[in-house]
Amino acid sequence: MLQGIIFDMDGTLTKPKADFAAIEREIGAKVGFILDYAEKSSPEELTRAMGILERFEEQAAMESELNEGVTEILKFLEKKQLKTALLTRNSRKSVDTVLKKHNLRFEFIISRDDAKPKPAPDPIFLLSRMMDIHTKHLLMVGDYKYDIMCGKAAGTRTALLRYKEYVETEIMPDFEINSLKDIVHIIEHFERTTATAHE
Ligand SMILES: [Mg+2]
Repeated sequence: MLQGIIFDMDGTLTKPKADFAAIEREIGAKVGFILDYAEKSSPEELTRAMGILERFEEQAAMESELNEGVTEILKFLEKKQLKTALLTRNSRKSVDTVLKKHNLRFEFIISRDDAKPKPAPDPIFLLSRMMDIHTKHLLMVGDYKYDIMCGKAAGTRTALLRYKEYVETEIMPDFEINSLKDIVHIIEHFERTTATAHE
């Protein structure tokens, strides 16, 4: 049975936008590298890189646009009494900017300020405790392989939001969706299988 849904932010709740190429040009390194290997950088280099990243993130958050179907699916999940959470590698500051701009509210939020970033399973273990839901009853929804890797490592079900431009993933998600509205079908699938199990 499904009891909670965890959403990635960039490219999932919001339209994909952050100009990672420009960020990386200015930093001189991959953004993923900065977050994943922070301990290997000198404190000065890390401070400089994080400063650039945060400036771009804040701008992207201010200019963000909601993805198709966000409001509808959140309303649907609320009606179904499923708990919802937001999990991102972004800063908490940019999360607050996005939520405020689009008048969204999440009871459970984990940013890179709160736990080790995806693809590590740590942030989902933390959410699982906060939401009081076993990871096997959670669905992780995201548009990038790190979302799927993180969900799989933590033992959740996973759904990949697929864009035309993004077709490759070496990690197989449990579900592939073209729109957030398709989450309705995933919920219905679980409702059906749970009903059958009780017959
Ligand atoms: Mg994303």
